[in-house]
Amino acid sequence: MSSAPSEITSASTTFDIAAIRRDFPLLDRSVNGKPLVYADNAATTQKPNVVIERIKRYYEYENSNIHRGVHTLSEDATEAYEIARSCVKQFLNAAHESEVIFTSGTTESINLVAQSYARTNLVAGDEILVSELEHHANIVPWQMVCQQTGAILKVAPINDAGEIILEAFAELLSARTRIVAVGHISNALGTVNPVERIIELAHEVGAVVLIDGAQASIHTPMDVQALDCDFYAFSGHKALGPTGVGVLYGRASLLEAMPPWQGGGDMIKVVTFEHTEYNTLPYKFEAGTPNIAGGLGLAAALEYFMALDITAVMAHEHALLNCAIARAASIPQLQLVGTAADKAAVVSFNIEGVHPHDLGTLLDQQGIAIRTGHHCAMPVMSRLGLSGTARASFALYNTEDEVHAVFDAIEKVLPMLLD
Ligand code: PLP
Repeated sequence: MSSAPSEITSASTTFDIAAIRRDFPLLDRSVNGKPLVYADNAATTQKPNVVIERIKRYYEYENSNIHRGVHTLSEDATEAYEIARSCVKQFLNAAHESEVIFTSGTTESINLVAQSYARTNLVAGDEILVSELEHHANIVPWQMVCQQTGAILKVAPINDAGEIILEAFAELLSARTRIVAVGHISNALGTVNPVERIIELAHEVGAVVLIDGAQASIHTPMDVQALDCDFYAFSGHKALGPTGVGVLYGRASLLEAMPPWQGGGDMIKVVTFEHTEYNTLPYKFEAGTPNIAGGLGLAAALEYFMALDITAVMAHEHALLNCAIARAASIPQLQLVGTAADKAAVVSFNIEGVHPHDLGTLLDQQGIAIRTGHHCAMPVMSRLGLSGTARASFALYNTEDEVHAVFDAIEKVLPMLLD
């Protein structure tokens, strides 16, 4: 079934998969004596050379703390960090740089909104609406703020295919709903949620909307102004960038009115023991020395991604998904988990009588990296009556050959597992 890495042509340009793969050095290695097939992109993506080089150059040549120094190194690092912010603004199509807050990742971005926006604005009886599909990072911060404020967490149900039931979601909205927080794409099942409609419906009742974009950043076209969301969170490491850096986009009018959530250096203008004046946006939310190298690395990743033909990238990932679904369907013992009409290239499945961890371990011996378990989304697993799944998740540098390699290996180890 295998074929050589192919070139995919889109309307405007050519998507050269072989050239893209050469940009990611790790893809070249072998694991357990076999060529690596990396199909765990929903957990984290690999990094292109431009990102690795950018971080190296910073530490070799530019390392200095930002925003404070008058010396050249510090001024240069500050300028580079603020250019990185502009790059994120461009990637998100945010209206202003000041709406881009660097955080340590999606988790911190959501906690920031929970502790700064929700904790100060919500009172007992107010409601926060999430969905059954959410990652723990988009559940637990809201539970914590509900405990602090007396607000109530409501949960929109999903159907058996793993899609949010929009009618039920709409029925849960009311004047009491103050925040709606949903994922753009489910990490556990790959469902692409109808976030445009969800945002419209939420705004009709006056709720603010946070979109957890951890799985969406480089897998769907990105435009926070067109989406009209109030907050958008994503992680660098799932977007070809480094770990330990991420972004919270927030609508300026909301961010302006929110108090800082962490105090320290950089987030202030003046400090006396009697009174402290906070800094302007976005620095008000960036206390302490940030992950400077991470910010620069993230910008290098986003620049790399934006230079590609995004339509061709999406078409390529869709072809990988279709290939995976077709191969999965040809294995009778395999049940797909999550069959939404609109899906990203994330394929969750179970094999009757086989523990997902056992499958994952045997695939690893074949050089194949997939993820197994509850994927930090225990509520969706329990909704579907499962303790976990095996999950193969693909990104722009994966080939159809690799999709075949995953399913060829499953077919190969199946007799051992079912023995
Ligand atoms: N939300 C979703 C949908 C995710 O998939 C993840 C990570 O897997 C997160 C949030 C948390 O991201 P991070 O651990 O990078 O903060």
